[in-house]
Amino acid sequence: MSTYINSRPMSNRTPSGSGTRDPFHFTYPSFPAPLPIPSSKSSSFLSQQQPQSSQSLSSTNDSFLEELIDDMTLSVSVPIPPSSPAVHTPAEYRNPLDFPVTPKPAPEIVKREPMSRWPELDALMWSNLKWAERVNEAEPKFFEATTEGQAPKILWMGCADSRVPETVLLGRKPGDVFVQRNVANQFQPDDTSSNALLNYAVMFVGCTHIIVAGHTCCGGCIAAYESPRTGNPDTHLHNFLAPIIKLRHELPEESSVDDLIEANVKLNVENVANSQTMQEAWGKGMQVYVHGWMYDLGSGRVRDLGCTMGPPPKEPSAQISTPAIPTKL
Ligand SMILES: [Zn+2]
Repeated sequence: MSTYINSRPMSNRTPSGSGTRDPFHFTYPSFPAPLPIPSSKSSSFLSQQQPQSSQSLSSTNDSFLEELIDDMTLSVSVPIPPSSPAVHTPAEYRNPLDFPVTPKPAPEIVKREPMSRWPELDALMWSNLKWAERVNEAEPKFFEATTEGQAPKILWMGCADSRVPETVLLGRKPGDVFVQRNVANQFQPDDTSSNALLNYAVMFVGCTHIIVAGHTCCGGCIAAYESPRTGNPDTHLHNFLAPIIKLRHELPEESSVDDLIEANVKLNVENVANSQTMQEAWGKGMQVYVHGWMYDLGSGRVRDLGCTMGPPPKEPSAQISTPAIPTKL
Protein backbone atom coordinates (compact mmCIF):
# COMPACT_ATOMS: atom_id res chain seq x y z
CA MET A 1 0.00 0.00 0.00
CA SER A 2 1.20 3.48 -0.75
CA THR A 3 2.20 5.71 2.09
CA TYR A 4 2.81 9.40 2.42
CA ILE A 5 4.29 9.63 5.90
CA ASN A 6 7.88 8.57 6.38
CA SER A 7 7.90 6.67 3.15
CA ARG A 8 10.77 8.52 1.54
CA PRO A 9 13.77 6.43 0.66
CA MET A 10 16.63 6.54 3.11
CA SER A 11 18.75 8.39 0.57
CA ASN A 12 16.44 11.41 0.93
CA ARG A 13 16.60 11.53 4.69
CA THR A 14 18.68 13.98 6.61
CA PRO A 15 21.92 12.25 7.62
CA SER A 16 22.03 11.49 11.31
CA GLY A 17 24.06 13.91 13.33
CA SER A 18 24.22 16.45 10.53
CA GLY A 19 22.85 19.19 12.76
CA THR A 20 19.77 19.80 10.63
CA ARG A 21 16.59 18.32 12.05
CA ASP A 22 14.36 16.50 9.63
CA PRO A 23 10.89 18.07 9.95
CA PHE A 24 9.38 14.63 9.44
CA HIS A 25 11.54 13.14 12.14
CA PHE A 26 9.44 11.79 14.98
CA THR A 27 10.75 11.74 18.53
CA TYR A 28 9.59 9.48 21.29
CA PRO A 29 9.92 11.06 24.74
CA SER A 30 9.80 7.70 26.53
CA PHE A 31 12.24 5.93 24.30
CA PRO A 32 12.68 2.99 23.94
CA ALA A 33 9.03 2.94 22.93
CA PRO A 34 6.93 -0.23 22.78
CA LEU A 35 7.00 -0.26 19.02
CA PRO A 36 8.25 -2.94 16.64
CA ILE A 37 12.00 -2.56 16.41
CA PRO A 38 13.74 -3.42 13.16
CA SER A 39 16.01 -6.41 12.97
CA SER A 40 19.80 -6.20 13.05
CA LYS A 41 20.66 -2.90 14.67
CA SER A 42 18.01 -3.12 17.35
CA SER A 43 19.03 -6.52 18.66
CA SER A 44 22.65 -5.52 19.08
CA PHE A 45 21.62 -2.26 20.59
CA LEU A 46 19.34 -3.80 23.16
CA SER A 47 21.96 -6.35 24.13
CA GLN A 48 24.52 -3.62 24.79
CA GLN A 49 22.46 -0.87 26.34
CA GLN A 50 20.01 -0.93 29.21
CA PRO A 51 19.28 2.77 29.62
CA GLN A 52 18.01 4.09 32.96
CA SER A 53 16.68 7.27 31.42
CA SER A 54 16.61 9.11 28.15
CA GLN A 55 19.36 11.34 29.51
CA SER A 56 21.79 8.44 29.57
CA LEU A 57 21.34 8.00 25.84
CA SER A 58 22.08 11.58 24.98
CA SER A 59 25.74 11.62 24.05
CA THR A 60 27.47 8.65 22.49
CA ASN A 61 24.45 7.03 20.95
CA ASP A 62 22.78 10.09 19.48
CA SER A 63 23.49 9.30 15.86
CA PHE A 64 22.73 5.64 16.30
CA LEU A 65 19.44 6.43 18.06
CA GLU A 66 18.42 8.77 15.32
CA GLU A 67 19.09 6.11 12.73
CA LEU A 68 17.11 3.65 14.79
CA ILE A 69 14.19 6.03 15.17
CA ASP A 70 14.35 6.67 11.44
CA ASP A 71 14.07 2.95 10.86
CA MET A 72 11.18 2.66 13.29
CA THR A 73 9.28 5.50 11.67
CA LEU A 74 9.41 3.62 8.42
CA SER A 75 6.92 1.21 9.91
CA VAL A 76 4.28 3.94 10.21
CA SER A 77 2.01 3.50 7.23
CA VAL A 78 -0.95 5.68 6.43
CA PRO A 79 -3.06 5.27 3.30
CA ILE A 80 -2.81 8.22 0.97
CA PRO A 81 -5.96 10.07 0.00
CA PRO A 82 -7.03 10.11 -3.64
CA SER A 83 -4.72 12.23 -5.74
CA SER A 84 -5.43 15.94 -5.62
CA PRO A 85 -6.82 17.68 -8.69
CA ALA A 86 -4.28 19.47 -10.80
CA VAL A 87 -3.33 22.94 -9.64
CA HIS A 88 -4.72 25.66 -11.85
CA THR A 89 -2.14 27.33 -14.00
CA PRO A 90 -2.22 31.13 -14.17
CA ALA A 91 -3.78 30.88 -17.63
CA GLU A 92 -6.67 28.88 -16.24
CA TYR A 93 -7.21 31.09 -13.24
CA ARG A 94 -10.31 33.21 -13.16
CA ASN A 95 -11.51 35.67 -10.58
CA PRO A 96 -13.97 33.69 -8.42
CA LEU A 97 -16.22 36.73 -8.32
CA ASP A 98 -16.62 36.44 -12.08
CA PHE A 99 -17.73 32.82 -12.11
CA PRO A 100 -21.22 32.45 -13.57
CA VAL A 101 -23.76 31.27 -11.07
CA THR A 102 -24.92 28.07 -12.67
CA PRO A 103 -26.05 25.66 -9.97
CA LYS A 104 -25.18 22.05 -10.52
CA PRO A 105 -27.88 19.44 -10.04
CA ALA A 106 -27.60 17.64 -6.74
CA PRO A 107 -25.90 14.26 -7.15
CA GLU A 108 -28.25 11.35 -6.83
CA ILE A 109 -27.76 9.47 -3.60
CA VAL A 110 -27.37 5.83 -4.53
CA LYS A 111 -26.29 4.37 -1.25
CA ARG A 112 -24.54 5.38 1.91
CA GLU A 113 -20.87 4.54 1.90
CA PRO A 114 -19.60 3.87 5.41
CA MET A 115 -16.45 5.75 6.43
CA SER A 116 -15.03 3.18 8.74
CA ARG A 117 -12.00 5.23 9.72
CA TRP A 118 -14.14 8.04 11.15
CA PRO A 119 -17.49 6.75 12.41
CA GLU A 120 -18.23 10.17 13.89
CA LEU A 121 -18.16 11.63 10.37
CA ASP A 122 -20.18 8.70 9.10
CA ALA A 123 -22.81 9.70 11.63
CA LEU A 124 -22.88 13.23 10.23
CA MET A 125 -23.31 11.93 6.68
CA TRP A 126 -26.16 9.77 7.89
CA SER A 127 -27.93 12.51 9.83
CA ASN A 128 -27.50 14.89 6.88
CA LEU A 129 -29.12 12.32 4.61
CA LYS A 130 -32.07 11.92 6.97
CA TRP A 131 -32.43 15.69 7.32
CA ALA A 132 -32.47 16.16 3.55
CA GLU A 133 -35.08 13.43 3.24
CA ARG A 134 -37.29 15.06 5.88
CA VAL A 135 -37.03 18.48 4.22
CA ASN A 136 -37.86 16.91 0.85
CA GLU A 137 -40.94 15.31 2.35
CA ALA A 138 -42.09 18.57 3.93
CA GLU A 139 -41.19 20.84 1.00
CA PRO A 140 -40.35 18.93 -2.18
CA LYS A 141 -39.26 22.09 -4.01
CA PHE A 142 -37.20 23.55 -1.17
CA PHE A 143 -33.70 22.57 -2.26
CA GLU A 144 -34.38 23.33 -5.89
CA ALA A 145 -35.53 26.80 -4.87
CA THR A 146 -32.35 27.47 -2.93
CA THR A 147 -30.29 27.00 -6.08
CA GLU A 148 -31.97 30.02 -7.64
CA GLY A 149 -30.42 32.55 -5.27
CA GLN A 150 -30.68 34.08 -1.84
CA ALA A 151 -32.32 37.21 -0.48
CA PRO A 152 -32.05 37.08 3.31
CA LYS A 153 -32.98 40.27 5.11
CA ILE A 154 -31.07 39.36 8.26
CA LEU A 155 -27.32 39.56 8.78
CA TRP A 156 -26.41 37.75 12.00
CA MET A 157 -23.05 38.67 13.50
CA GLY A 158 -22.66 36.13 16.24
CA CYS A 159 -20.18 34.09 18.18
CA ALA A 160 -18.59 30.93 16.79
CA ASP A 161 -19.74 29.05 19.89
CA SER A 162 -21.29 25.71 18.93
CA ARG A 163 -24.21 26.34 21.29
CA VAL A 164 -25.39 29.38 19.36
CA PRO A 165 -26.31 28.21 15.83
CA GLU A 166 -28.28 31.21 14.55
CA THR A 167 -30.54 29.48 12.02
CA VAL A 168 -31.53 26.81 14.51
CA LEU A 169 -32.23 29.05 17.49
CA LEU A 170 -34.14 31.54 15.33
CA GLY A 171 -36.25 28.71 13.94
CA ARG A 172 -35.41 29.70 10.38
CA LYS A 173 -34.54 27.83 7.21
CA PRO A 174 -31.41 27.79 5.07
CA GLY A 175 -31.52 30.99 3.04
CA ASP A 176 -33.09 33.14 5.76
CA VAL A 177 -29.98 34.40 7.54
CA PHE A 178 -26.69 35.72 6.19
CA VAL A 179 -23.99 35.02 8.75
CA GLN A 180 -20.69 36.08 10.18
CA ARG A 181 -19.53 34.20 13.25
CA ASN A 182 -16.22 34.56 15.00
CA VAL A 183 -14.80 34.55 18.51
CA ALA A 184 -17.05 36.68 20.73
CA ASN A 185 -19.19 38.16 17.93
CA GLN A 186 -16.86 40.95 16.95
CA PHE A 187 -16.83 43.47 14.12
CA GLN A 188 -13.37 44.92 14.28
CA PRO A 189 -13.02 48.15 12.26
CA ASP A 190 -9.86 47.02 10.46
CA ASP A 191 -10.97 43.44 9.79
CA THR A 192 -11.03 43.01 6.01
CA SER A 193 -13.18 39.89 6.21
CA SER A 194 -15.85 41.53 8.37
CA ASN A 195 -15.93 44.70 6.27
CA ALA A 196 -16.17 42.77 3.01
CA LEU A 197 -18.94 40.58 4.39
CA LEU A 198 -20.91 43.56 5.70
CA ASN A 199 -20.57 45.40 2.39
CA TYR A 200 -21.67 42.38 0.42
CA ALA A 201 -24.60 41.71 2.75
CA VAL A 202 -25.94 45.27 2.74
CA MET A 203 -25.13 46.45 -0.76
CA PHE A 204 -25.60 43.26 -2.78
CA VAL A 205 -27.57 40.66 -0.81
CA GLY A 206 -30.02 43.22 0.50
CA CYS A 207 -29.87 42.63 4.25
CA THR A 208 -31.74 45.33 6.13
CA HIS A 209 -31.29 44.19 9.74
CA ILE A 210 -27.86 43.51 11.15
CA ILE A 211 -27.97 41.74 14.48
CA VAL A 212 -24.85 41.70 16.61
CA ALA A 213 -25.63 38.79 18.90
CA GLY A 214 -23.82 38.02 22.13
CA HIS A 215 -24.60 35.11 24.37
CA THR A 216 -24.33 34.16 28.02
CA CYS A 217 -21.38 31.97 29.07
CA CYS A 218 -19.31 33.30 26.14
CA GLY A 219 -15.88 31.71 26.37
CA GLY A 220 -14.18 34.55 24.49
CA CYS A 221 -15.57 37.18 26.85
CA ILE A 222 -14.78 35.06 29.91
CA ALA A 223 -11.18 34.74 28.73
CA ALA A 224 -11.01 38.50 28.17
CA TYR A 225 -12.61 39.16 31.55
CA GLU A 226 -9.94 37.11 33.30
CA SER A 227 -7.08 38.50 31.26
CA PRO A 228 -4.77 41.13 32.73
CA ARG A 229 -4.45 44.38 30.85
CA THR A 230 -0.96 43.46 29.67
CA GLY A 231 1.47 40.60 29.82
CA ASN A 232 -0.32 38.05 27.69
CA PRO A 233 1.46 36.10 24.99
CA ASP A 234 1.30 37.50 21.50
CA THR A 235 -1.05 34.95 19.99
CA HIS A 236 -3.75 35.27 17.36
CA LEU A 237 -6.43 34.57 19.95
CA HIS A 238 -5.10 37.13 22.39
CA ASN A 239 -4.77 39.73 19.66
CA PHE A 240 -8.31 39.10 18.50
CA LEU A 241 -9.63 39.43 22.05
CA ALA A 242 -7.63 42.62 22.69
CA PRO A 243 -10.59 45.00 22.16
CA ILE A 244 -12.64 43.06 24.73
CA ILE A 245 -9.74 42.95 27.19
CA LYS A 246 -9.43 46.71 26.81
CA LEU A 247 -13.18 47.07 27.27
CA ARG A 248 -13.09 44.96 30.41
CA HIS A 249 -10.56 47.30 32.01
CA GLU A 250 -12.66 50.32 31.07
CA LEU A 251 -15.69 48.96 32.93
CA PRO A 252 -16.14 49.53 36.67
CA GLU A 253 -14.08 47.11 38.73
CA GLU A 254 -17.17 45.38 40.13
CA SER A 255 -18.53 44.59 36.66
CA SER A 256 -19.51 40.99 36.02
CA VAL A 257 -18.82 38.76 33.03
CA ASP A 258 -22.39 39.35 31.89
CA ASP A 259 -21.76 43.09 32.01
CA LEU A 260 -18.74 42.61 29.78
CA ILE A 261 -20.67 40.39 27.34
CA GLU A 262 -23.38 43.03 27.02
CA ALA A 263 -20.89 45.87 26.70
CA ASN A 264 -19.09 43.93 23.98
CA VAL A 265 -22.31 43.63 21.98
CA LYS A 266 -22.92 47.36 22.25
CA LEU A 267 -19.32 48.13 21.29
CA ASN A 268 -19.65 46.04 18.14
CA VAL A 269 -23.00 47.60 17.26
CA GLU A 270 -21.16 50.92 17.29
CA ASN A 271 -18.33 49.45 15.23
CA VAL A 272 -20.78 48.27 12.57
CA ALA A 273 -22.59 51.60 12.62
CA ASN A 274 -19.33 53.49 12.14
CA SER A 275 -18.20 51.31 9.24
CA GLN A 276 -17.78 52.72 5.76
CA THR A 277 -20.56 50.50 4.47
CA MET A 278 -23.16 51.66 6.98
CA GLN A 279 -22.20 55.29 6.65
CA GLU A 280 -22.57 54.97 2.89
CA ALA A 281 -25.87 53.13 3.19
CA TRP A 282 -27.34 55.68 5.54
CA GLY A 283 -25.96 58.47 3.37
CA LYS A 284 -28.04 57.05 0.52
CA GLY A 285 -31.11 56.93 2.73
CA MET A 286 -31.20 53.13 2.94
CA GLN A 287 -33.43 51.72 5.66
CA VAL A 288 -30.86 49.48 7.30
CA TYR A 289 -30.63 48.92 11.05
CA VAL A 290 -28.03 47.59 13.44
CA HIS A 291 -29.31 45.83 16.54
CA GLY A 292 -27.74 44.33 19.65
CA TRP A 293 -29.20 41.09 20.97
CA MET A 294 -28.33 38.66 23.74
CA TYR A 295 -28.97 34.92 23.56
CA ASP A 296 -29.47 33.19 26.89
CA LEU A 297 -28.11 29.66 26.86
CA GLY A 298 -30.12 28.65 29.89
CA SER A 299 -33.51 29.44 28.35
CA GLY A 300 -32.88 29.42 24.59
CA ARG A 301 -34.35 32.91 24.36
CA VAL A 302 -33.01 36.06 22.72
CA ARG A 303 -33.45 39.52 24.13
CA ASP A 304 -33.09 42.92 22.48
CA LEU A 305 -30.56 45.05 24.31
CA GLY A 306 -32.22 48.26 23.09
CA CYS A 307 -29.21 49.70 21.31
CA THR A 308 -30.53 49.74 17.73
CA MET A 309 -28.94 52.25 15.39
CA GLY A 310 -30.38 53.46 12.10
CA PRO A 311 -32.74 55.98 10.55
CA PRO A 312 -36.36 56.38 11.71
CA PRO A 313 -38.45 53.67 10.01
CA LYS A 314 -40.63 54.99 7.20
CA GLU A 315 -43.26 52.34 7.69
CA PRO A 316 -43.78 49.20 9.74
CA SER A 317 -41.58 46.45 8.37
CA ALA A 318 -43.19 43.35 6.93
CA GLN A 319 -39.91 41.84 5.91
CA ILE A 320 -39.87 38.96 8.38
CA SER A 321 -43.33 37.63 7.89
CA THR A 322 -42.65 34.14 6.61
CA PRO A 323 -43.63 31.32 8.94
CA ALA A 324 -40.88 29.78 11.00
CA ILE A 325 -39.41 26.49 10.03
CA PRO A 326 -41.02 23.50 11.77
CA THR A 327 -38.98 22.36 14.74
CA LYS A 328 -38.41 18.87 13.31
CA LEU A 329 -36.42 20.30 10.42
ZN1 LIG B 1 -19.10 33.20 22.59
